[in-house]
Amino acid sequence: TYAIEADSVTKVYLNRQDEVHALKPISFRIHPGEFVSLVGPSGCGKSTVLSLMAGLIRPSSGCLRIFGKEVTAPSNRVSYMLQQDCLLDWRTVEDNITLGLEFRGRKNRQTSHDARQLLELLGLRHTLKLFPSQLSGGMRQRVALVRTLAVEPDLLLLDEPFSAVDYQTKLHLEKLLTDGLKIREMTALLVTHDLEEALSLSDRILVMGGQPGEIRRTLEVPEELR
Ligand code: ADP
Ligand code: ADP
Repeated sequence: TYAIEADSVTKVYLNRQDEVHALKPISFRIHPGEFVSLVGPSGCGKSTVLSLMAGLIRPSSGCLRIFGKEVTAPSNRVSYMLQQDCLLDWRTVEDNITLGLEFRGRKNRQTSHDARQLLELLGLRHTLKLFPSQLSGGMRQRVALVRTLAVEPDLLLLDEPFSAVDYQTKLHLEKLLTDGLKIREMTALLVTHDLEEALSLSDRILVMGGQPGEIRRTLEVPEELR
């Protein structure tokens, strides 16, 4: 089975009385373990594609399947990371990271152990008892990445996760992401405006645009560019 199968998926938003045709019928398939980037101009429908996969909105027509199952609601197998870190300011770093695990019904002790291991790996161990407001922007996004990976999703959805951090932090986070993905064989779909990022991370790039809501072309990324 494919990790993702989109068959003639469309999305029409209703804005008061107006219909916004955000996606023309789009179709594509992504294999398990593949890393695919989605690039294209603002407003071409990239976030809409991710929201559909996350089960946050439903297609207006067509069918979207994740690991063979039609997406009808948010799934435990999918983890979503955004540009803004969405950390909860009233919970410590550790409690932010375990939040996702708690939602997924893991036992607390194991949760805590997993979180500590990941933080150790990322050099964040000394931040466990701190609150997000005590961290720099780059550190916060690092914590957000740990939280996203900690639930060991089968599918990782990333919407410009590194666009608000400085260049060095971005490179570091990209490295952590690829290391994390290698260990766990996750499938990933990344929305980005950053061509270098798309090239260095992806197996394949879907270019949206031309007409809004269309996939204009698909590029295989040669090994030597990564
Ligand atoms: P991108 O992520 O490529 O910038 P989006 O998926 O956010 O594109 O948006 C695609 C189109 O759909 C845009 O015209 C946008 O204004 C519109 N759109 C997105 N979300 C909504 C919404 N909730 N209601 C109405 N229109 C929306
Ligand atoms: P991006 O280009 O980074 O995707 P946008 O500014 O297009 O960001 O969209 C940010 C959020 O606003 C998204 O969740 C999108 O669904 C929503 N949105 C975009 N356009 C509209 C719109 N015309 N009406 C309502 N919500 C919208």
